Amino acid sequence: MQSGLTQQALERAIENNELILYYQPKVNLLTGNVIGAEALVRWNVGEGDIIPPNVFIPLAESSGLLHDITVMLLDQVVNASQELRNIGLDLSLSMNVAPNDLQSQTISEQIKTYLEKNAIKPSDLQIEITESAVMGSFDQIREDIIRLTELGIDVLMDDFGTGYSSIDRLSQLPFSALKLDQGVVRRMGTSRQNLNVVKASISMARELRMTSVAEGIESSATYHFLMANGCEEAQGFYISHPLSLDALKTFASKSHEFDGSQIGRIHQAVHNVLHHRKCLFDVIYCARVGANACLPSVIDPDISERLEASRLGSWYFGVGQQLRGTASFDSLEQPIRELYGLTQSILDRRNVNDEKYDLEMAVTRMDLLVNQVISLLHKLESSLLLKH
Ligand code: C2E
Ligand code: MG
Ligand code: MG
Repeated sequence: MQSGLTQQALERAIENNELILYYQPKVNLLTGNVIGAEALVRWNVGEGDIIPPNVFIPLAESSGLLHDITVMLLDQVVNASQELRNIGLDLSLSMNVAPNDLQSQTISEQIKTYLEKNAIKPSDLQIEITESAVMGSFDQIREDIIRLTELGIDVLMDDFGTGYSSIDRLSQLPFSALKLDQGVVRRMGTSRQNLNVVKASISMARELRMTSVAEGIESSATYHFLMANGCEEAQGFYISHPLSLDALKTFASKSHEFDGSQIGRIHQAVHNVLHHRKCLFDVIYCARVGANACLPSVIDPDISERLEASRLGSWYFGVGQQLRGTASFDSLEQPIRELYGLTQSILDRRNVNDEKYDLEMAVTRMDLLVNQVISLLHKLESSLLLKH
């Protein structure tokens, strides 16, 4: 441990406001826009010396000071958020918390108070919890995360890829995003297997309807590979080192030329369509072999809910709209709408012995639409590729 690093010194540092936050910008890979920043604590011991969090957070934790520090840092984040808003910057700030911090409920109560006083809105703040910490008391953590999500606060799983959480466990925790660990991201270039781990993590986030975020991006190659593979948000030295609040203001006010592309998201849209077809086939198959051969969970909400809320629809009618004006994008709307309409009619009639309903014709039509949508998506993907 660094000399002078004692509990008393840390207590003094808290009193003297020597714990300050730096902010590392995050970019949306679909648009190239700076959308937020992660708040990272530093201990400013003076004369230009800074102690990094990995050195003093363990001491704060073992000496029971971390909770007070987190409460204090939450104040700093809220103030920073207001300052950013005052100069017209709409950035979402994320802060790191340890599971023990959440257990006491002081943090969620404090966030609730800020929200009630309109000091911040829910989208101004995000909470990051590391994957290894989530391996602890599952039920407690689940409750703590739910309490925050009920306030409208997004909770991200940090350092994903280090804690061995199972897909089962992950799917039961309402995280809004998976943040790939920087070690996993850095190793990506060293072997095909490591690269596949990153691709699989992005797919898993997509399946679980979570946003994929990558940190530790240090090169243009990594940035662009992630973008081409559907990762949605990026953070790392390639974009910027952590900055003081003033430097963040300058950084976020400047226009940047970070690349943004939907090319990776379009590839995911192809998967969404194939998934849609397979889900519908499962439903029809079940109906044909008999109700008792059918799992109650066979209907994926993705195909039964509103088009706009589905994975495909939320892209097409959301960020995808930035591609409006591109012929293949515009041509997608009609077959997508028809596909969802047809899906609904097949779902509505699946248990009804409706002699007049021609299932064969409906399935044939569905395949035609699926092929049409996929072909347009491929055209769109290729046109974006050739634009680069
Ligand atoms: P983290 O939350 O995973 O934060 C990312 C860390 O990676 C930061 O280190 C950041 O400076 C560093 N980093 C970002 N981009 C790159 C890159 O491209 N290359 C490399 N080599 N590093 C990059 P930092 O600030 O030293 O923080 C380390 C850890 O300390 C954080 O990991 C987080 O777990 C913890 N931490 C930081 N601030 C707080 C806090 O306020 N509260 C708590 N409980 N933990 C904190
Ligand atoms: Mg973090
Ligand atoms: Mg991390």
